Amino acid sequence: MTKLIIERGSKGQMATSLPSCDVPAKPLGDLIPDTYQRSWESIRLPEVAEPELIRHYTNLSTKNHHVDKDFYPLGSCTMKYNPKINEWTAGQPIFAESHPLQPEALSQSQLQIHYELEQFLCGITGMKRFTLQPAAGSQGELTGVLIMRKYHEKRGNQKTKVLIPDAAHGTNPASVAMAGYEVCEIKSNARGLVDIEDLKSKLTPDVAGLMLTNPNTLGLFEENISQIVELIHSVDGLVYMDGANMNALIGIVRPADMGFDITHINLHKTFSTPHGGGGPGSGPIGVVDRLVPYLPKPTVDKNGETYSLKFDLPDSIGRLHGFYGNYGILVRAWTYIRMLGKDNLTDISKAAVINANYLMHRLKAYYHLPYDLPCMHEFVLSAVTQKAAGVKALDIAKRLLDYGFHAPTMYFPLIVKEALMIEPTESETRETLDRFVEVMIKIDEEIKQNPEMVHAAPLTTPVGRVDETLANRQLTVHW
Ligand SMILES: *Cc1c(COP(=O)(O)O)cnc(C)c1O
Repeated sequence: MTKLIIERGSKGQMATSLPSCDVPAKPLGDLIPDTYQRSWESIRLPEVAEPELIRHYTNLSTKNHHVDKDFYPLGSCTMKYNPKINEWTAGQPIFAESHPLQPEALSQSQLQIHYELEQFLCGITGMKRFTLQPAAGSQGELTGVLIMRKYHEKRGNQKTKVLIPDAAHGTNPASVAMAGYEVCEIKSNARGLVDIEDLKSKLTPDVAGLMLTNPNTLGLFEENISQIVELIHSVDGLVYMDGANMNALIGIVRPADMGFDITHINLHKTFSTPHGGGGPGSGPIGVVDRLVPYLPKPTVDKNGETYSLKFDLPDSIGRLHGFYGNYGILVRAWTYIRMLGKDNLTDISKAAVINANYLMHRLKAYYHLPYDLPCMHEFVLSAVTQKAAGVKALDIAKRLLDYGFHAPTMYFPLIVKEALMIEPTESETRETLDRFVEVMIKIDEEIKQNPEMVHAAPLTTPVGRVDETLANRQLTVHW
C-alpha cells in the first residue's frame, strides 16, 4: 500500500516554532510489544460511485425529521435553525485542528474566543463571571449546585435541602440530588406561578437555596421574583435561575439584576448551536461576585493583550470537563452573537415571544389552554377535549409527523394533563406558523370525524408506531 502524505502548510509553519522534543527514531508501532498489537484484516467496504453515495445519505437524512427539513416546535428544547455560518467558523483550521494541550502561546486566538464569549454572557446576564465547561444544561445545574454547596461549606452553614417549584424543568431535582441535597417541592398556584405561601411554609434555616426555572415550563414569567429572592436570601440561601431558555429574556431582563446568584444558559438552545440525539451541548454557568472563587478551574484570564489559563484557584470546585468545554460549540455560539451584534440580540427574544403568543392565540380556540396568560417563548396546551373523543396528546403528536412537522414536547410539565408544549422559536416565519396552525385545526377536525385514523398515526412515515415499552425492556441495538 502506498503511504499517503498530507502536507499541512499552517501546521508545518507552526511546528518550526515549537521547541524540539524527543521523537523516537523507530515507527511508534514497533515500540509496542506484540502482545498488545491488534491483529487485523482488511474490511470489505462496498465500492460505489459518488452519486450513489450522495443519494444514499441524502435519502437517509430525509427519513428522519430535522430542523433543516421543517418546523420543529419542541417545547423548551428550542430547536431553532443552526446558521450555516456557525459551521463555517467552527470548521476553520485554527479551531478545528488545534489541540487543547498545545501551549498557551500558540492558543491565543482560541483563548480569545473563549474569553470574549464569557464577556458576552456576562453582559447578557449581568453575572460577574462564567465557566464555559459544562457540556449540557443539566451539567451546568450540577456545577451551580456544587458551587452552592461550597459556598455554604466555606461559611460553616448547616444546609440540607434545596427548594424547587413543581413547574421547574425535570433536570433540576436530579441535579440537586446528585449534589447531595434533599429536594423540597414548592407548589404552583392557580395561575401557574410559585405559590408564595407554600414557599414560606417550607423556608427553614436548613434551606441551601432555590432553583427557579424562569420562564417556567409553562412558558410563564415568574411575577414575584424580588419577593422570592428576598425570602431565600433571608436564610442565607442562594437563588439559582435555570436560564436554559434565555432566548425569552435577552436584552429585556438580566438574571443578576433580578437578584439571582447563579444562572446557566443553554448555548444549544438560546444561541443556535446544534443539538439533538444527546449532544454536543453546552451549559455555561454564571455567578455573582461573591461566588467567583468557587468556579471550576481553569478560568481564562486576560492580562494586557495576552490570554492565559488560570489554575491557581484554591477554593474552586475543581474541573467539570476534560478540557475547557465543548469548544466547537463555543465557537458557534460566539459566531451567532457576533453575527447579530449587541443591538440586534434583543430581536431574538422579541421574535421568540411574539411567535409563541401568536400561535397560542390562534390555537386556543381549538385546544384547551389551561393557563391563559401572555406567554414567553413557549406555551402549554392540553388535549383534554380531544381525549374525551378517545384521542390522546400522543396521537396528535404522531399525526403531526404525517404532515411533515416534528411533534411538540408531550406530557410535560406534569401539572398539565395531556400536555402539548409548543415552542416556535424566533427563527420561523409567519407562513410556517400559519401552516402549523392549519394542520393543528385539521387534526382537531379529523379527531371529530375519524378518531381511529388519528389513533393509528403516523401513516406516512418510514417507521410507524413502535412498541416503546417493548423497546425499553428488550433493547436490540443493530450496528
Ligand atoms: C433543556 C433544559 C434543561 C436541561 O438542559 P440539557 O442541555 O438538556 O441538559 C434544563 N432546564 C430547562 C428549563 C431546559 O429547557
